[in-house]
Amino acid sequence: MREGFVITEGVACAPAVIFHNEPVTVTNTVIGPNKAPEELKLYDSAREKTQKILEQEIENTSSKTARDFLEAAVLYLQDPYIIEQISNTIAKKYLSAESAIFQCYSAYIDELVSTNDPFVMHNEFEIRNLAETLILELRRQKVVLPKIDHDCILVCNNITPAQFLNLPTEHIKGVLLEDGNTNSHLAIVLRSTKIPAIFNVHKVCKVVTPGTVVLVDAYNNKIYLNPLDEIIWTVKKKAGERKADEYAHITPMMAQYKQAPDGECMRILANVGSMSELQRLASCPSSGIGLFRTEFLFMQCTQEPSEEEQYQVYKRIMDSLPHRYQVTFRTFDFNADKLPLYMNTAAMLSINSDEDEHVDNRTRSILAKQLHALLRASVAGSMRIMFPMIAEYDELCELIELYQSIKLKLKSEGVEPGDVKLGIMIETPAGVVMSKELAGLVDFFSIGTNDLTQYTEARNREMANHRNDELTPAVLRFINFTVQNARAAKVPVCICGELVHNVEYLPLFVALGLREFSVAPFYLNRMLDMMHSNQFIEIPDLDERIHALKTAKDIKNLNTYIRTLMVAEN
Ligand code: PEP
Ligand code: MG
Repeated sequence: MREGFVITEGVACAPAVIFHNEPVTVTNTVIGPNKAPEELKLYDSAREKTQKILEQEIENTSSKTARDFLEAAVLYLQDPYIIEQISNTIAKKYLSAESAIFQCYSAYIDELVSTNDPFVMHNEFEIRNLAETLILELRRQKVVLPKIDHDCILVCNNITPAQFLNLPTEHIKGVLLEDGNTNSHLAIVLRSTKIPAIFNVHKVCKVVTPGTVVLVDAYNNKIYLNPLDEIIWTVKKKAGERKADEYAHITPMMAQYKQAPDGECMRILANVGSMSELQRLASCPSSGIGLFRTEFLFMQCTQEPSEEEQYQVYKRIMDSLPHRYQVTFRTFDFNADKLPLYMNTAAMLSINSDEDEHVDNRTRSILAKQLHALLRASVAGSMRIMFPMIAEYDELCELIELYQSIKLKLKSEGVEPGDVKLGIMIETPAGVVMSKELAGLVDFFSIGTNDLTQYTEARNREMANHRNDELTPAVLRFINFTVQNARAAKVPVCICGELVHNVEYLPLFVALGLREFSVAPFYLNRMLDMMHSNQFIEIPDLDERIHALKTAKDIKNLNTYIRTLMVAEN
């Protein structure tokens, strides 16, 4: 069968369970004015019922990730703007409730997409799904999730992360998806569950019938239908050998550093978003945390955590790690995907909202509290703090001013903060362009390839039918430019984001001058293996070569060229 993109590696063999998420189709139906009140009531009641169902699901789920998605759906359902639009369309244009819901949610998405709001880029799929749920409620139809009571390979055209997490995932041994995107939330959820998964498998729902035995070899991007016993045995044996031997030579001491060709120290760090992920680090050697996404801690609370509560958590994180560990906390990076329930959508803007003074003040006061708590906890070890989504020079100056004022306040309270390094994420094209100037203000950079790719390529992180973890010449030039500016200013640069999980790019990244790589815990061993099993080299004419690249394939060829030189030189 035609292969797709491997999301999570591994091997699984089981009978297929098919889930076809039929798109809901709606034709525009005009009703008479006398029917409008009735349709309005139907809309209100469908909305209330949908809300109750979502709230029930929030209560029933034990998965934090599922809860986050469900809570975001409730927020969209309650949005007063969309409620008004739909009600007016029914009452004044005399459209049936389902036509009005379909039309208004579609217009809502188009409108937000056209304003280039990052919000929708992440949530288009979830909003569409919510509109479809409402329409099905009006029709008294339901999305019926498959009944799964035995081990299976889940085969679907598409599925939302919340739907997926509502299935008995302990029975799902593998996932094949017709659509999907490598950076989507479903991909992130699947990586966290470690279920072998392949996306973008052409017509998989048509080719596979329920009960067909499917062997998913997500090490080699291969799918076998009704495989012979010998094939199952061979594939599983190879996978077993791979598991047993692959990283046996990685030891915690080796893991800490490696010398780059210029004598500098290279290190592999971890991306972490929760306390449970932190525990996983105990069995994965790394030399620190390169990205702690603090917004997830806010999302676990039902109300905004106090400064003291935050301090206790940050201190616990610092205390739970070996003392040599450096922990990089990113200040909260709220957006529609990562929005605590107690914050409204306007307040999700990160720190640089100058559109609304009230929101700006509120966001600032949350940030001030967070910085105070972090600086207090910095006494416990080696800490870095970084601001996300920086785009403008004066915005960063203001943030640094705030940071310095909190440091002074803390000192006046009798607390001497640790030696904290202050940095920023370079993840917007504006941040890249201004990187020379920004480098003069901070101690370090961290390049966030997820946002940098989506904003550079104007790609929808969630939905685009494209490999978002593929490096393109434009993004590579941006990375190159940023690293050059940082190195000229002697500012260390880390790179985080899903792109780094493509370990084969490591020789190219090292040649560019990158020395810190931060990856999800799942990828730590693989990165360490790559780092330790190669002798990296410098490429004198790399800059010209990068400027001659036209396609993603050219980048792969350049990387192969570097790897060939590495073999020849060593
Ligand atoms: C990024 O944008 O690359 C990044 C690491 O941040 P996040 O994925 O949390 O937006
Ligand atoms: Mg980001």
